[in-house]
Amino acid sequence: MKVLVVAAHPDDEVLGCGGAIAKHTEQGDIVHVLIMAEGATSRSLQRDRSKAKNQLSALAVAAQQASEILGVQSLKLHHFPDNRMDSCDLLDVIKVIEKKISQYQPEIIYTHHFGDVNIDHRRIHEAVVTAVRPIPGQIVQTLLFFEIASSTEWQPSSSALPFTPNWFVDISETLSLKIKALTAYESEMRPFPHARSVNALEHLAKWRGASVGVEAAEAFLLGRNLI
Ligand SMILES: [Zn+2]
Repeated sequence: MKVLVVAAHPDDEVLGCGGAIAKHTEQGDIVHVLIMAEGATSRSLQRDRSKAKNQLSALAVAAQQASEILGVQSLKLHHFPDNRMDSCDLLDVIKVIEKKISQYQPEIIYTHHFGDVNIDHRRIHEAVVTAVRPIPGQIVQTLLFFEIASSTEWQPSSSALPFTPNWFVDISETLSLKIKALTAYESEMRPFPHARSVNALEHLAKWRGASVGVEAAEAFLLGRNLI
């Protein structure tokens, strides 16, 4: 099985489906990770890649370390502007994703939920949905949307489509690898009780697991499945 994860920022791939990635790779599946936006540059008033150079290279190192921990076959970092993807032509984003789908031929794609607070997450969702439109010969059979702690639950349910999972991956055996991969992203993690803390993410995995009667799980919203 070939799997593609399309994430907005370095860390989203682990937050959203790190346990599922590790499970896929342990089963012998090939997982490719595509990270679309650069991260970090939205933390200053203006986007300045040269000023954020050290942070950007630290994030690239963290992404590589996380990928190695999870057994990812290939990691590709693109440089769309962090938290400013509403300033990009959607078609340019779609073209990048289409090219990777054509190169990797994945049967499964994991990506963002449409209802997140983060604008980049929403743009990536739209771009992926367009890139995998079900034309004859479409290779992608399963499309899954993940939740990102500190973005998905921050959206008021009256403001956008709430995340109502209907697909669960048992990560009882791989939760520890997900947590290990998250610790590679030290700069992105926050102390508990922030939602993007190791403690909160362990609790979330255990709650998602308890929702389906296993020790730990990741929850997804199924976009489409063709069998
Ligand atoms: Zn993100």
